[in-house]
Formats: sequence, structure tokens, C-alpha cells
Amino acid sequence: MRVANLDGRAVLLGDARALDIAAASVGRFPADPQLVYDSWAELAGWGEAIDVDRHPRAVDLDRALLGAPVPRPGQILAVGLNYADHAEESGLAVPEHPLVFTKFASSLTGPDAVVRLSGARVDWEAELVVVIGAGGRDIPPEEAWDRVAGLTIGQDISDRDVQWWGSSSQFSLGKSFEGYAPTGPAVVSVAEIDAAYDRDDLRIGCRSIDAAGRERVLQDGRTRDMIFTIPTIIHRLSAIVELRPGDLIFTGTPAGVGSGRTPEEFLTPGLTLVTEIDGLGSIRQEFV
Ligand code: ZN
Repeated sequence: MRVANLDGRAVLLGDARALDIAAASVGRFPADPQLVYDSWAELAGWGEAIDVDRHPRAVDLDRALLGAPVPRPGQILAVGLNYADHAEESGLAVPEHPLVFTKFASSLTGPDAVVRLSGARVDWEAELVVVIGAGGRDIPPEEAWDRVAGLTIGQDISDRDVQWWGSSSQFSLGKSFEGYAPTGPAVVSVAEIDAAYDRDDLRIGCRSIDAAGRERVLQDGRTRDMIFTIPTIIHRLSAIVELRPGDLIFTGTPAGVGSGRTPEEFLTPGLTLVTEIDGLGSIRQEFV
């Protein structure tokens, strides 16, 4: 099951069509895409079996109308330096505890967006994003996946100047400019991922396309290389923070960011960034 936000309404996505959840369920489930996570298990029980592309009430998907699949999460938690090769390229030690910051919710945007650069040192970070379903406190690692609704793609776009302001750094501010948290295109249920992929080992990467159409691979990693796995992150975070339905967790980025290169490279106006993860599709930002 893939759940998206089509022009402000919760929909199931097929390959080329979308089905309005509230209309097709005759009001059993809400139209608000934020609220579907409150009854995710029930939604999955209804929606996993639906063949959206053949459903009589489905409409052709207009991708331009897709918004952030989780538009108003109560919390956005983000883990820094969660891949050893990225910690190394950043010149920082592999962390003993998950390094956690937030991307403020006003930085969220949909999968395909035009993003205004905040400065000359703005970087890319392809990330797998966990969407919490049942949530809770003190979640044991072995139960963590049961509290997850699904996965989606995110970009943790980062202004490296602002990020390193001050002696204790400013990760949350430097990563929260308008449009710096693109997500989507859909939240893919764990069951749907399991049907075709290993949920703990997904290929993740991004590439740039310049104004002349030239493509370049920027990041190409695997989520099995996370230092703190998704069950460990959920276990460790929920020991402190109550995880609630519809919360987002950005899980860190593999090697290949611009600030880790010699010389450094950053996003420039006119560049398009495409981020892909196995089974989740792709998101695309154009920078101005
Ligand atoms: Zn990040």
C-alpha cells in the first residue's frame, strides 16, 4: 500500500492512478493525509488488497499535485552521521549515541519542488525516512518495525554555513529553510516493501542533472550500512521521546555529500536533484 497526499487529500497510489481514501472507503477513513496514521493498521487492512490502477473510482495521477505525504507531523527527528563512510568524509568520529536534531516542520515540502537556495554552501543528503504508525514509549528493538507505518524518501537539504554557526552548532536551523525537507512521493507500507525488497537493505542515492541535461551520480549507498539500524533508532529515541502516529524520522545519509569532497561542491541555481530509494520511487528538486 502506498499512501500519498494529492492536493491535500489522502489517496492510495497505484502505478499511474490515485484513489481518494475517504471517498472510496465511504468515510471510514479520513480525507486529511495527516490523520490516516492514527488508524494505520485498520487502513492497511482495507487498503493493502486494493488494486488502485483497476479501481473504478481511481483517477489519473497528476504528480504535480502531490504534497508532502505526511504534511503536519507532530515531531520530525533526524539522525546525523548514521553511515560510517559519511562520518569519515565529514571528518567526524563515528558516534557512540545517535546524534539527533530536528528539521522544523515548516521546511517540509512535497516530492517535486522548486527550492530557493539560502546561500553558497547548500548541500544534499539522500535519506530514508521512517513514518511512525502506532508509536509509543520504550519500544523494544524487536517490536520496532511493528510501530512503523511505512517508509518514504527525504532529502535533508543542509546549509553548511548555518549548520556550523556557533560553538555547539545549529543543525536544526541550518536544515530547516523553506523547502529543505522534501519528502514523498508516498508512504510505502512495510508489507509492500517486504513483497519485493529487504526492508533493512535498500539501495539509496541521488544524482544531479545540470541545465544542459548532464547527469551525475552523487550518492549511491545501501541502508544496511546504517550505524544505528531502524529498530535501534526507534528503541533509543522512544526511551526518551514518545513517538506518535505520523512522526517522521530522517535516518541519515550515506557518503557522497558535497561538503565531503575535495574541493567541496554545493547545489547551484539551475541544478536538479533526483533522489531514489528501492521500492519508494523518486523525488526531484529544482534549485533557484
Ligand atoms: Zn542528514
